[in-house]
Amino acid sequence: MLLKKATLLFLLILIAACPVGLVAQKKSKDLKSIEIKTSPKLIVGIVVDQMRYDYLTRFWNHYEEGGFRRLVNEGFNCKNNHFNYAPTKTGPGHTSVYTGTTPARHGVIGNNWYDKVNDVEVYCASDPAYESVGTTSDAGKMSPHRMRVTTITDELRLHTQMRGKTIAIALKDRGAVLPGGHTANAAYWFHGADVGHWISSSYYMKELPKWVNDFNASDKVKDYKKSWTTLKDINTYLESGMDNNKYEGLLETEITPTFPHNTANMLNRNADFEILRATPYGNSITTDFAIEALKNENLGADTITDFLAISFSSTDYVGHKYGVNSKEVQDTYIRLDRDLERLFKEFDKSVGKGEYTVFLTADHGAIDVPAYLKDKKIPAGYIDFAAIEAKFSEFLKYTFGTTDIVTNLSNNQYFLDHKIIKNLDMDLVEAQEIIAKELLTYEGIDQVFTGHQMWKNNYTSGVPYILQKGYNQKRSGDVLIVLTPGVISYPKTGSTHGSPQIYDTHVPLLFYGKGIKAGSTVERTEIPDIAPTISALLGIAFPSGTTGKPIAKVLE
Ligand SMILES: [Zn+2]
Repeated sequence: MLLKKATLLFLLILIAACPVGLVAQKKSKDLKSIEIKTSPKLIVGIVVDQMRYDYLTRFWNHYEEGGFRRLVNEGFNCKNNHFNYAPTKTGPGHTSVYTGTTPARHGVIGNNWYDKVNDVEVYCASDPAYESVGTTSDAGKMSPHRMRVTTITDELRLHTQMRGKTIAIALKDRGAVLPGGHTANAAYWFHGADVGHWISSSYYMKELPKWVNDFNASDKVKDYKKSWTTLKDINTYLESGMDNNKYEGLLETEITPTFPHNTANMLNRNADFEILRATPYGNSITTDFAIEALKNENLGADTITDFLAISFSSTDYVGHKYGVNSKEVQDTYIRLDRDLERLFKEFDKSVGKGEYTVFLTADHGAIDVPAYLKDKKIPAGYIDFAAIEAKFSEFLKYTFGTTDIVTNLSNNQYFLDHKIIKNLDMDLVEAQEIIAKELLTYEGIDQVFTGHQMWKNNYTSGVPYILQKGYNQKRSGDVLIVLTPGVISYPKTGSTHGSPQIYDTHVPLLFYGKGIKAGSTVERTEIPDIAPTISALLGIAFPSGTTGKPIAKVLE
């Protein structure tokens, strides 16, 4: 205490002794020269929903020079980039990219989760305190209030005294709301229904700007209500499986999951706009809208850095429906490549080549359809939670006298009723262990951990490290299960994600543009490294919960 006082006194004397004016003047001049040297006019954050790293390499021959290839050839490619937490899902994914940390700190532990304090299920972006803007439905009642730390977009707003703009865009509300941070000028998402409009929340604005209303009133979205055919000759798509196979979901009245996809609802120009989500046209609509935002919001028009956060959601819907190895996924990425090219050309034109910086990553990966893997003799399969439920209930009744002891199962975590455990005169740690040991005997469950283990240990590698980074003491559960590699809880068609396994964690990370070196690395990088890398590039504060570190190699 004494020492502290002395230090403070010394500092005060030092400050008083300094010729303040001179120091301030010199400092501001230095800062200015740093800013001019390093600050891009626009940062573009791109998250491709459900993009595995190997989609870059597998479809490489089909990409044009101006899209993915431009980022790889002229920018920096982090080839060994991973999510370092589970669950690997969209809400936590977008949040972790923009906050530079993991659910353990930012609090977004799933898309949906069980709020154990209030005994209700919550959605990561919903907020009944706000009204929808641009629709009379509830689809706009969103805010980032469940995210407990700042984002890179927030820090840029704070640094520029709110002069730098942030606009966030995605078909999915959570893909826009979370990247936009707490201080976004606007976040927009797609309300399909029978309108196909871009909407927002009263968290950001009272009404939609004119350019958004104009876009919604135009025929732009309606024009995508058309048949989905492959962009190139399907016979050149040698990097995916047969078009007609049993591992893909069917659309409406379709009898086979094959091109062209042209059901009545796909062609109807006046209704059923939700269907566009699971076609590559959803990404094209997102691109069209992002270009309108760029022009009408004058993003990157002056020297104060703006931020455009774009998330391409259709890749995820297509992956869930058709699976990693489908012709549909291949065509979706080939078309996304053309949309990226279109977008970058607009940035060149309105912001200026070399005046902006882009990063591109994903919010999670995905597993190949287990039924397909099994047919190829690869260990994989499905877990049947309904079957487990019956056996598990018997066990709970026998051991604890009641099934009420388990209040919820979500994101592969069991939540226990701590009051019942106390009334039974049991120790919580003991109850967690008894339940974990039982669950480990079930087919498809490979590993179990307890909340207590997450509390008391400090894991530094492997699956427990990944689980712990996703474990939030205030919000997470009591018993954590990890499914056997290759095993999912999902229908037998299409792909999914959410696990700590490498097929869900390995995703692209590309940097391109002002301040970025050309090159690549196979050294491991992690998703929370993205935000501090951008902070370091801009010379601004790191997001408040940052646990990642800047990737030094990327920066000039
Ligand atoms: Zn996702």
